[in-house]
Amino acid sequence: MSVGADAFHPIDACWVCGGRALTPYHTLRFELETYRNDDQDHELAAYSGATLRLVRCRQCGFGQPEALPALTRYFDRLYDQRHDEHWIDTEFHASYKDLIFSSILSELGRRVLNANGRRRLLDVGTHAGRFLTFATRAGWDAEGIELNPRTAAYAARHAGVPVHQMNAVALAAEGRRYSAIVLTDVLEHIPSPLELVSSLASMLEPAGVLAIKVPCGSAQAMKEATLARLTSHRATLADNLVHVNHFSPHSLALALDRAGLDATVVTAAPELMPLQPFSMRAALSNTLRLGLYGVARAPGGVRTPLALHLQAYGVRKRS
Ligand SMILES: [Zn+2]
Repeated sequence: MSVGADAFHPIDACWVCGGRALTPYHTLRFELETYRNDDQDHELAAYSGATLRLVRCRQCGFGQPEALPALTRYFDRLYDQRHDEHWIDTEFHASYKDLIFSSILSELGRRVLNANGRRRLLDVGTHAGRFLTFATRAGWDAEGIELNPRTAAYAARHAGVPVHQMNAVALAAEGRRYSAIVLTDVLEHIPSPLELVSSLASMLEPAGVLAIKVPCGSAQAMKEATLARLTSHRATLADNLVHVNHFSPHSLALALDRAGLDATVVTAAPELMPLQPFSMRAALSNTLRLGLYGVARAPGGVRTPLALHLQAYGVRKRS
């Protein structure tokens, strides 16, 4: 059994600039059969076999799906992973994002002035809380926000700081203010991304900074297409709509601008594989990644296909 045409709500304008000239460039698949196991979610599993196109906005270069599933709470249901404590613990101790975390903290340390002595940081989608422990160590008064109750509780316990279990729009409504807000590997998963970016921007103190890391949609599409030509690899990045937003450097800067922020977009640091226990494959892969990063962070490098991930810093405009 599969879904019919009414299973999707079409999207007729670009989520970033509102442009209506949208050109298809990739077809993604739904493969959700595993949700049939243990009677987990038959309505979700029914989307298996369906396809959907990604379209690129001719005006700003942003990529997004041509439609979204009509199924209520599709994304909540997709991410309803029953994380056990052992898995969360492994994530907390995993070092693969440490270079990303330390480069964000060093950049924020430079950009956020310590005017009143207190620097408050919010980590959005805080996961197991590893970044929160780094931020606290770097002298930030840090807090997290995380929807998953298990990871939220784990992060609060292990980082020893408050972790709000709610969405960012609800937190913004409480009137909280931060000197820095960090969103790492989260925004690519959220439909209509401008709403979240605007909510976060509203929580910044004057001259506060929003740091956003996302994959570069245009560079990733080129990488996947090249791999597909050379091997039997099929581009899977957008399958099941795991990634809904496919930013280019320009459309990311534009999204921040629309939320009232002055943006700088640079090449983001790469994830690195653990070297303990030592593995030659990991060592070679890390050398390659660091080499590409070195080239892609040179002036102009962010606009080349070598910039596989983007890091934006947005400062609240003076009104
Ligand atoms: Zn656009």
